[in-house]
Amino acid sequence: MKKTIPTLALGTMLTFGASAVENKDFNYIVDRFADIEVLRYEVPGFKNLTTSQKAMIYYLNQAAQTGRDIIWDQNCRYNLPVRTLLENVYTNYKGDRSSKDFKAFEQYLKQVWFGNGIHHHYSTDKFVPGFSQAFFTEQVNALPADKLPGGYASREAMMEELTPVIFDPAFMAKRVNQDGTQDVIATSATNLYGPGVTQAEVEEYYSRLKDPNDPTPVSYGLNARVVKEDGKIKEQHYQLNGLYGPAIAKIIYYLSKAREYAENDAQKNYIASLIDYYITGDLKKFDEYSILWAEDTKSEVDFVNGFIESYGDPLGMTGSWESYVNFKNIPSSRRTEIISGNAQWFEDHSPVDPNFRKPHVKGVSAKVITAAMLGGDAFPATAIGINLPNANWIRAAHGSKSVTLENITEAYAMASRGNGFNDEFVIDPATSKLMDDWLYITDMLHTDLHECLGHGSGRLMPGVDPDALKEHGSTLEETRADLFALYYLADPKLQELGILDNPEAYKSEYYKYLLNGLMTQLNRIELGKDVEEAHMRNRQLISKWVLEKGKKDKVVELVKKNGKTYVKINDYRKLRDLFGQLLKEVQRIKSEGDYAAGNKLVNDYGVKIDKKLHKEVLDRYSKLDIPPYRGFVNPVYTAVYDDNGNITDVTISYDEGYVDQMLRLSRDYSTLTK
Ligand code: ZN
Repeated sequence: MKKTIPTLALGTMLTFGASAVENKDFNYIVDRFADIEVLRYEVPGFKNLTTSQKAMIYYLNQAAQTGRDIIWDQNCRYNLPVRTLLENVYTNYKGDRSSKDFKAFEQYLKQVWFGNGIHHHYSTDKFVPGFSQAFFTEQVNALPADKLPGGYASREAMMEELTPVIFDPAFMAKRVNQDGTQDVIATSATNLYGPGVTQAEVEEYYSRLKDPNDPTPVSYGLNARVVKEDGKIKEQHYQLNGLYGPAIAKIIYYLSKAREYAENDAQKNYIASLIDYYITGDLKKFDEYSILWAEDTKSEVDFVNGFIESYGDPLGMTGSWESYVNFKNIPSSRRTEIISGNAQWFEDHSPVDPNFRKPHVKGVSAKVITAAMLGGDAFPATAIGINLPNANWIRAAHGSKSVTLENITEAYAMASRGNGFNDEFVIDPATSKLMDDWLYITDMLHTDLHECLGHGSGRLMPGVDPDALKEHGSTLEETRADLFALYYLADPKLQELGILDNPEAYKSEYYKYLLNGLMTQLNRIELGKDVEEAHMRNRQLISKWVLEKGKKDKVVELVKKNGKTYVKINDYRKLRDLFGQLLKEVQRIKSEGDYAAGNKLVNDYGVKIDKKLHKEVLDRYSKLDIPPYRGFVNPVYTAVYDDNGNITDVTISYDEGYVDQMLRLSRDYSTLTK
């Protein structure tokens, strides 16, 4: 639960920081459809790596792409057959590719690729096809039998099952339902739970497994589908001889190949340990691996590969399969090393109750990385910062690794140049100028502070269940980390440490944060709906809270100019104090596991939307034509071998388009499709 996702596309120029861009003519924008823009990212520095590092990355990339089918199946049990069917219709279509039905079909397929299934990656709502059922049936009937998804008795049986999956809006309407007034398992389309399983049964099952006095609990449910067999609740594990075995076997193969090129013994050991876990599915072994991985801070090449983040589970337990392959950006890492090196100072001076501070902040290792490959749940949409492992006790005892994906952040910024956002939404030219000059660096610092310090700060009181905040756990954890970052962004300590040379620069991030939290992030939500996603709830919670608490002193206001609403910040110092006060309260809620207070805070500030303002934001946004969501295609890596089959070089190219990449991945990396 420790990842940072990008905020909205801002029209910010890159005016600070050593740009790593190697090619100034690099074409960042690849494709555009529905509410999505697909970008490509550059991998600066790749060609300067050693041959051994390149070979290791090559095999890790293979492992990253090999797990793709797993996330598709985790997201919904119909995703893989639907994908096969859609892709075969797409590639075999003989009619007019500019017809209205085909265009709508193509858009739907592009959306499904982006969502790793039939639900939107962010809202988790089911996509609505814009083509007719008659058109689709006709195309399917024209396909030869060997182009149909396997596992069905007949074409008719397949269509009977898959037609409502695509066309019935009420069937499997939402992948992750977090409405606590309903049974969140029974009403979610995710395949992390088998048919007929209820929330009460899952909660009862795990409450029996969990020992509240265990100081080193495993991450229960992390690699399991919970199913009902003969009326009994049981787990099916993701492991070599279990669920997803064929995909896991290939992942293990590529990890073993990568291990041959490991930089040092520590890295060899953690890869071996990860393989061991994939073979056995034993969560104790996952913890062993996580500790070895967290403690290896020397290796330049690094990766994540496994069942990690639990946002896809309505109960926040099972990990979605994902992979990041990366290497260290050494010049930029100096910034995060300074922050981490002073972690104890930040902890000791935070505005939270001293009882809830960590007396000894351990090993917050932070680095800036260059992403080389995004896979599984981290593809095509990705985080820009990651902080792992997630287990609280491992973080406390062994530290965690926190990373900022700078080449991804840079691609976002470069692709947003001159998109008109500031002109439309920022209150005056002076604030716009401040953002143009400082937002790129303060945004990265915000991510650094959030990841390196925010998530790692504070402690739970003895006996407090780490899951005590239940469905609000993710939101409040992100709230805490964001507040920590916001509070310290304005601290003179940053000038003293030499990582930000302008004491006014923080205002650019404060302005953007409130503008986003109060207004512009609403662009991601359909009119009439509530805020649901954890990071978005967190941002609105913080922004609305300071708006309300600062009302008396007019710290922040929403003002009208020419009929348009603007965020106006009158007192940045008092705003910082308010961030500090809220941080204090949120840390108390977390430390004491105060569900009632957390529930009230989220519901009072994080969920509901003023419909009039929402409509205004949507209208103003629509004129700008800025896509609310973005993701990436990966570069293509090609290995060069000698006569003995050893890798002598790995080349990288950036010219593959979105459709070609998706079709290639399905062709070359299908591990679970029948
Ligand atoms: Zn976070």
